[in-house]
Amino acid sequence: MGAQIIDGKKIAELVRAELKLRAEKLIQSGIKPGLAVIIVGDNAASGIYVRNKVKACSEVGIYSEVHSFPSSAQQSEVLNCIQSLNENPHIHGILVQLPLPSHFENNRVITSIAVEKDVDGFHLYNVGALVTGNTIFSPCTPYGVVVMLERNHIPIEGQHAVVIGRSNIVGKPMALMLLERGATVTICTSKTRDLHEFTKNADILVVATGKPRMITAEMVKPGAVVIDVGINRLPDGKLCGDVDYESVKNIAGYITPVPGGVGPMTITMLLCNTILAAERAQANIKNR
Ligand code: NDP
Repeated sequence: MGAQIIDGKKIAELVRAELKLRAEKLIQSGIKPGLAVIIVGDNAASGIYVRNKVKACSEVGIYSEVHSFPSSAQQSEVLNCIQSLNENPHIHGILVQLPLPSHFENNRVITSIAVEKDVDGFHLYNVGALVTGNTIFSPCTPYGVVVMLERNHIPIEGQHAVVIGRSNIVGKPMALMLLERGATVTICTSKTRDLHEFTKNADILVVATGKPRMITAEMVKPGAVVIDVGINRLPDGKLCGDVDYESVKNIAGYITPVPGGVGPMTITMLLCNTILAAERAQANIKNR
């Protein structure tokens, strides 16, 4: 029997409909949720991501503004912009589109964002909060994966989850979030020997390597849940994941497609974190 397809597009639509209601409630109480996006340089992919974020915001009723800087901009200009956004009561979420030009210090820029507006969850304080199980904002991509599992009633507790990849934006927070939910977690990297020995034992396999179709059917345990975070553009212009979807779908229990899997969830969880930030701001005003 073939795997059940986890339809990220459909789940994202459902979550966005719920977020729209939460945004309407906030607007009725006088707070329009607001997101500011900072982009430095003219990386084409970053430009597309930012436009998609702006569009998604307007669809659920979030105000958004984009602050664009040329790649020659000084770090201090961006820090000044973040400072004024930190103080702006109409802005509840701030994100800096990565990557930044090489003369920028990522951590310096990200940690200048007010913790309560860091909707990407990349501020070192928020990373520490995640590590200690006191999450303030879950990083969007792994958060999207968890929501996909939950909405499909896929148990996490007690399962052996194998995460391939240890990036700060996907692999590490993914592993922590699964650990927090009671999974036994193994993290594999490019240095892992005999990768298939780990992948074959995974009840939940999350792949975030950026290596097209590297996970094949022989590497997957029959019935496993396979989550493909990878987005790779092939020479023919088509997109594919890090999992060989065509072979793995015959052996897995659940699988996410690419496109239409984790991708649509990432922006959705950004919207979710922005609404959450606005709800917290509203609660603070009420408690004053
Ligand atoms: P990075 O390049 O930052 O990290 C890749 C990780 O994969 C590294 O830890 C690397 O190990 C590991 N790796 C690479 N090759 C192998 C291998 N052969 N075996 C085992 N591990 C390997 O990538 P990101 O985490 O930023 O992104 C990963 C993928 O997810 C990309 O395709 C990206 O486009 C996609 N992505 C998708 C998103 C979405 O919304 N769906 C959001 C963000 C990313 P090592 O550390 O040892 O080098």
